Amino acid sequence: MPIKLTAFEHKIAKQLAALKRKSGSHSPSPAMLRDVSGITVKHDFCFLSNPYATDLFLKYWKRDFGNKNTRNLHKLVEQYPSQNRVLAGKLEKIVGVPAQHIFVGNGATEIIQAMLQNFAKRKILVPVPTFSPYLEFAPKGVKTVIHQLRKEAGFKLEAKRFLKDIQREKPDSVVIINPSNPDGGYVSASTLRQLLEKLRHIGIVIIDESFIHFADKNKRTPQDAARLVNTFPNLVVIKSLSKDFGIAGLRLGYGVMSKQRISTLLARGYLWNISGFGEYFLNLLNNRGFMKEYEKARLLAIRERDDFFTQLSTLKGLKVYPSRANMFLIELLGGSRAEDFMVTLLARYGIYVRLCKDKIGLNGEFIRIASCKAKENLKLVRALKNILSE
Ligand SMILES: *Cc1c(COP(=O)(O)O)cnc(C)c1O
Repeated sequence: MPIKLTAFEHKIAKQLAALKRKSGSHSPSPAMLRDVSGITVKHDFCFLSNPYATDLFLKYWKRDFGNKNTRNLHKLVEQYPSQNRVLAGKLEKIVGVPAQHIFVGNGATEIIQAMLQNFAKRKILVPVPTFSPYLEFAPKGVKTVIHQLRKEAGFKLEAKRFLKDIQREKPDSVVIINPSNPDGGYVSASTLRQLLEKLRHIGIVIIDESFIHFADKNKRTPQDAARLVNTFPNLVVIKSLSKDFGIAGLRLGYGVMSKQRISTLLARGYLWNISGFGEYFLNLLNNRGFMKEYEKARLLAIRERDDFFTQLSTLKGLKVYPSRANMFLIELLGGSRAEDFMVTLLARYGIYVRLCKDKIGLNGEFIRIASCKAKENLKLVRALKNILSE
């Protein structure tokens, strides 16, 4: 049965819709929701991150800057951070390529922006549904065209169809997100390599691996694609550190690309684009103790994500798409509107989920949920069960 909102919930729905209009293609933050009277966000399933990695970061932070170390903090705040090329050196080890191939960004979003605005020439082809900045940051005079991923194929990238669209559209820039957002769809390393072979004539091929740490529990250094920049000079690998390391607030990401592209970017700015706080985190990536503990946090997040999927799959009235990222795209069957579902979860359970109405290329009733800690995931499963059985 479709959900029926109470009069009170209708009122909330109206206020939420107004907030959404102010937020563009992103969801209103929990801070913005504080202005909606009568609701409290207790569990945020909208925001994507590994909560165990955030806990780990804070443990090191307290150790290095806590009460006894305010002098360290004073220095961090007072002094200039290192420049981009020095910071790139701090990523060499975990990325597995020399620093001359690495550009450090104030969040991956800054790199997406830099790529599209500096290197896209005529036309960008982007598979949809997708992370919206890829559709929004093309400069004037550069066209953005979409490649529709099919619902019947579970929004998987179908290599043949994709190549056919590229042949027809003749873009000079192409984007692949792997695993994808909002559905966590995954392209295998071998398929990716075959695609790169066939796309040698394209000016720039962006592979966004922002969720790659969630993709494979057996691969400790999952950044395979980055190592291909020597073989494919047109390849740019973009990676956010926000989600898998749980540090969206620090603003850190990197891009792996040809030396020439990096020189071009640095000649146009980005001198001190990373803060001292970001630099502190890059130092942690070279700390063996930290990385060992991070590996545990990574495996735990993957395990709980897979358990979450098993639990969600037992619920009737919705379809969960398999995911190799830390999120699930859920389609509502049985006639409920996604908006009503979102409002009900928020009003009755304090659970905030991502409404996908604004996602281009996603037609139907969809919500996206993050995989949080197991205990919270269970709360969402129970709430869904209650709502669906009404
Ligand atoms: C979140 C996200 C980013 C941007 O992350 P930053 O916080 O800017 O580092 C880039 N790509 C994808 C696919 C994302 O989901």
